[in-house]
Amino acid sequence: MTQYSVAVLPGDGIGPEVTAEAERVLRAAGQRFDVSFTMSHVPIGAAGVASAGDPLPEETRAAVRRANAVLLGAVGAPGLEHAPRHLKPETGLLALRALLGVYANLRPVTVLAPLVDRSPLKPDRLEGVDVLIVRELTGGLYYGEPRGRDAAGSRAVNTLVYTVPEIERVARVAFDAARRRRRLVTSVDKANVLEVSQLWRETVTAVGCEYPDVRLEHLYVDYAAMRLVSDPAAFDVLLTENMFGDILSDEAAVLVGSLGLLPSASLGAGAGLFEPIHGSAPDIAGKGVANPIGAIASVAMLLRYGLRLPEAADAVDQAIRAVLDAGARTRDIAEPGAPAIGTREMGERIAGVVLKECGMRNAECGIEGRTSIPHSTFRIPHSPEAP
Ligand code: NAD
Repeated sequence: MTQYSVAVLPGDGIGPEVTAEAERVLRAAGQRFDVSFTMSHVPIGAAGVASAGDPLPEETRAAVRRANAVLLGAVGAPGLEHAPRHLKPETGLLALRALLGVYANLRPVTVLAPLVDRSPLKPDRLEGVDVLIVRELTGGLYYGEPRGRDAAGSRAVNTLVYTVPEIERVARVAFDAARRRRRLVTSVDKANVLEVSQLWRETVTAVGCEYPDVRLEHLYVDYAAMRLVSDPAAFDVLLTENMFGDILSDEAAVLVGSLGLLPSASLGAGAGLFEPIHGSAPDIAGKGVANPIGAIASVAMLLRYGLRLPEAADAVDQAIRAVLDAGARTRDIAEPGAPAIGTREMGERIAGVVLKECGMRNAECGIEGRTSIPHSTFRIPHSPEAP
């Protein structure tokens, strides 16, 4: 039996709730495909601050360095918004991405037929929507120095900086992905105003010359934001920098009907990081109503890109579709007044479908039989296949 080590960082708010269901489905996939996972659970975000006074404690750093893949819930807690930067939950997440060197964040946005009516957009606009957002993740405004506020607190600064190698490597991820899809890369910038965006555009254009079979177009971010809701089917691979990608991918969630549905994979040279795109959702935390599908679809990406187990990944993706086709809905994607199931039941149903094919029962998908594995680093593919 093949064995892998997965570091599980549930985090804050709904993070632990959705991660528990993602783990349930990962174990189910392991049972079905004869793969064993050793899960180490470690804190991040406000949970890290509470347990070790650090949003990315040393214990967590050590666990992710040992892991073949990292599964994350979400970070963020009300009350810590005004904490010093080194104690903010989000600082832990940024430090984790930097530690893993995961510079390419892949966010697939596919409108599923049974959920077309949950989007505020007209159904004809949603036909054929299948966008892969490739967001640069370890540079730009979120990491640039200098940053901070002056002593009086009346002036603040952040720095937007990118280098050619940083742009080239993420652009190659986008072009490689496009080759396995519909061969169109739309690069998004603000080159009419920002020098950094001009460098971005020049560099992406130069990388594009290495891919004559892939069409490249450039859009300003303001127009891209509009087009994403007015003509979303026009996009194939959308390549952009860190902050624009953060904002546009939340906008893209409107297309699919809920932020709770969207997964992501963050890839670099070592172990990948897999997490839903939503935050800790303090407004619904602890109620058992969060949609775990974004976290479960992140498990599919973990299996596909992190561990190179495409059959297991397909089984998870197919199980999500089957459960939605059968009418299961959490509150965020249910029609107003229609019955909804909770986080756990959604996870159980999806795990149940994953196991059904090999005749196992959901209850058999336990955590017994954990074994340890050598602490090797698993290589992440640099040419991700289309999700
Ligand atoms: P959010 O994504 O947590 O929530 C936005 C809205 O979407 C809320 O109404 C929430 O209830 C809903 N929602 C989110 N996930 C859902 C799910 N799985 N099922 C059903 N509904 C869901 O964004 P926010 O409210 O702007 O931020 C809350 C906290 O999360 C902040 O501290 C923020 O910094 C943090 N955050 C963390 C991440 C991350 O960990 N990657 C991402 C975004 C925001």
